[in-house]
Amino acid sequence: DKLLEIKGLKVCVEGKEILNGLDLAINKGETHVIMGPNGAGKSTLGYSIMGHPKYEVEEGSIYFEGDDITYEKTDVRAKKGIFLSFQNPEELSGVSLESFMRTSKIAVDGKPLKVLSYRKEMGKTMESLGMDKEYGDRYLNVGFSGGEKKKSEILQMLMLNPKLAILDETDSGLDVDAVKIVSQGVKTFKNKNNSLLIITHNTKILEYLDVDYVHILVDGKLVKTGDASLVEEVNRKGFKELAFH
Ligand code: ADP
Ligand code: MG
Ligand code: MG
Repeated sequence: DKLLEIKGLKVCVEGKEILNGLDLAINKGETHVIMGPNGAGKSTLGYSIMGHPKYEVEEGSIYFEGDDITYEKTDVRAKKGIFLSFQNPEELSGVSLESFMRTSKIAVDGKPLKVLSYRKEMGKTMESLGMDKEYGDRYLNVGFSGGEKKKSEILQMLMLNPKLAILDETDSGLDVDAVKIVSQGVKTFKNKNNSLLIITHNTKILEYLDVDYVHILVDGKLVKTGDASLVEEVNRKGFKELAFH
């Protein structure tokens, strides 16, 4: 049961080709991990799936639940159930975390929400992530520490409950306790009907999740795919050796 299918994807950023012929298929219920050296194009892949306007598709296609979304706008993709957690979450002064989250929930669901029950659920979810409730009233990510920004991304994922969550280094720059909390949050989210695409350098998060496939992305292409044991091979050999042997 295919959820996401990417065929021969070539993507340019500011005139430079970053992805050069990438193929990837994710079925419902699966967890995929992308690893690769800095600058390989991992974040570009995340942005391309989400439809960031800066990332121009030159060739190839992206299908979601069988629909061609290659040239769809980001909001359409979000409504279809795709979520991207940014590697570097942006600060948004003047908009509180809670109102930002409510606005995106209403936009994605396309219907009004019950404010009180939403608040209650959000409070519970924040508690499970070890976030102080006062963060809901603070401006989105403004003055948040790196770890707090990542937790606020996971909070948004849990509240939006997408079909496909793409997590771009959500576990980077976190202390061990925060990695544990974030990993447990991701584990809580995962069920047999949704899918995860996790971009990471940190293999700790993978101890919490059942990983189906690991892909190695080098120079804008997936050069190797394997099961969870590939993570250990990466740690042992490094990307260069893996990619060329
Ligand atoms: P990774 O996430 O694997 O570290 P990225 O996808 O962030 O790699 O970047 C891949 C390449 O694309 C890098 O050379 C980077 O400088 C370039 N790139 C990515 N996004 C942009 C952008 N918005 N503007 C200019 N160059 C970009
Ligand atoms: Mg990087
Ligand atoms: Mg990146």
